[in-house]
Amino acid sequence: DRASRALKDPTFTKLVVVFAVSGGGLVAYADSKSDGYESSQVPTKKKVVVLGTGWAGMSFLKTVDSSLYDVQVVSPRNYFAFTPLLPSVTCGTVEPRSIAEPIRNIIRKKKGDIKFWEAECFKIDAKSKKVHCRSNVGTNLDGTGEFEVEYDYLVIAVGARPNTFNTPGVAENCHFLKQILHIFVQEIEDAQRIQKAALPNLNEEERRKTLHFIVIGGGPTGVEFAAELHDFVTEDLAKLYPNIQDLVKISLIEAGGHILTMFDKRITEFAEDKFQRDGIDVKTNFKVVKVSDKAITMTNPSTGEISVPYGMAVWSAGIGTRPIILDFMKEIGQAGRRVLATDEWLRVLGCNDVYALGDCGTINQRKVLEDVSAIFQKADRKNSGKLTVKELKVVFDDIFERYPQLELYLKSKHMKDVSDLLKDSDSNPGTESIELDIERLKKALSNVDSQVKMLPPTAQVAAQQGTYLAQCFNKMKERDENPEGPPRIRETGRHRFRPFRYRHLGQFAPLGGEQTAAQLPGDWISIGHSSQWLWYSVYASKQVSWRTRFLVVSDWMRRFIFGRDSSRM
Ligand code: FAD
Repeated sequence: DRASRALKDPTFTKLVVVFAVSGGGLVAYADSKSDGYESSQVPTKKKVVVLGTGWAGMSFLKTVDSSLYDVQVVSPRNYFAFTPLLPSVTCGTVEPRSIAEPIRNIIRKKKGDIKFWEAECFKIDAKSKKVHCRSNVGTNLDGTGEFEVEYDYLVIAVGARPNTFNTPGVAENCHFLKQILHIFVQEIEDAQRIQKAALPNLNEEERRKTLHFIVIGGGPTGVEFAAELHDFVTEDLAKLYPNIQDLVKISLIEAGGHILTMFDKRITEFAEDKFQRDGIDVKTNFKVVKVSDKAITMTNPSTGEISVPYGMAVWSAGIGTRPIILDFMKEIGQAGRRVLATDEWLRVLGCNDVYALGDCGTINQRKVLEDVSAIFQKADRKNSGKLTVKELKVVFDDIFERYPQLELYLKSKHMKDVSDLLKDSDSNPGTESIELDIERLKKALSNVDSQVKMLPPTAQVAAQQGTYLAQCFNKMKERDENPEGPPRIRETGRHRFRPFRYRHLGQFAPLGGEQTAAQLPGDWISIGHSSQWLWYSVYASKQVSWRTRFLVVSDWMRRFIFGRDSSRM
């Protein structure tokens, strides 16, 4: 418009139309000064490359203003999977397709053009600002399917992989809930296994072994899967195969002293009691040391080593680092770490313009301890260097809301006396006035393993980080003009953006039988049927599109009316 007006304008002095290749097309560009037009460079958009289409990558893409950047996404998965509903998929409560949103549906709705490459990134070259990728869907003329993508900013959101802790036989013989494709396979295998167990040619012992399901890992995912499996057996299998229902056994193996240790003690106790009533065999203090195709070997301080025959084993015992991240950490001087260390603006330490979000990154421990120290100091209004137990409770609430992982640390041996005092004070208010030395508390906390992920590896953290970083990118230009930012965010080491702050919105643990435990901010605990309805509403509202929301809710209704669908066409 401007160009054509300028061409017709007799006072026209200069017009330069620059053609540049941008966003896959030719762009004509003209610039003007008040008295006419003068030559100008095309302001090429900065290239933002996002690795991964999980929680962190998806929420970044949903929020980023793609008209400001040349955004490219690389992921071997062309869909986003709503992982919290994966355990429901395994037993047919929810259909796999209902929790998967094609990534193209998400980027189609954006103002600017976002390119998606269905490929796996196998090397990050931070020096030449390139990522090396291997296509998932075909090969180049050279037959390798490999290509490079250059970036100005790189957002690493590749998540984590299951951690087998190098236990022999786990990778070969266990299923992993993490991999949705495994689950499609697993479902078919489950169905076949059950049908096989119903065949007349097996004796009872063989049937029992075939129908022994072992879940390894008593965290929220393992617990939810065991509960879902139990519901499937009692509600659906009992009707379909009444003769084998009593032969099914579900065991939940946990290396620690309790299941659901990241939850409040009341929830842990309720879950353990409920599982016992339901007939789920919860084995705590059992460490799996070997898995063969027939039996799982585990050790326990009192029983020693035992081997248990099984039909199907599901491994849900923790997460590990992806090889690409291990290689990258070596390159940037972070070798030996378990996750990429970032600052509170999520910038990877040791390189420029690279950010890490979600399960593959963690905020640097030193900064966390500085934060914690500042919270202690602020609470010490009298400047006495001491805090009463009563004051400490408020301080810890503040700290744990920001860094929930430290709550686990409070339960460890370094802080045992403090946690005992806090527990005592609930039943004995007299102890609330006992004073504790701040320096000693800080010292105890500084023993936190520097490898510990300071924020939990959850969808909640990953999604909040993705949204935060995209908001920073959207304001980058504005902040470039005002680099020091508004005074309220001028913290130590001034920065253009406020640092990332996690807001813990609570967590759920579905326990089966339409009962869920909910732990919400402010130590609000709710267990039972009402929390199950809260769970349904939260998970329906958190769906990434109306399409998946509709599909998930209709799956739940189908299940209520007709039961789970265990058949496979
Ligand atoms: P992911 O969501 O795992 O995404 C990683 C992405 O990177 C994927 O798209 C993957 O394809 C891609 N990728 C991998 N390698 C490469 C590569 N080399 N190059 C490019 N792309 C790559 N959290 C909760 O808060 N609540 C829950 O109820 C809950 N339930 C869960 C149940 C299960 C069964 C599982 C497995 C996890 C659950 N979680 C839950 C945890 C949650 O899913 C993770 O914390 C979250 O997915 C982390 O997000 P992310 O973006 O970091 O990684």
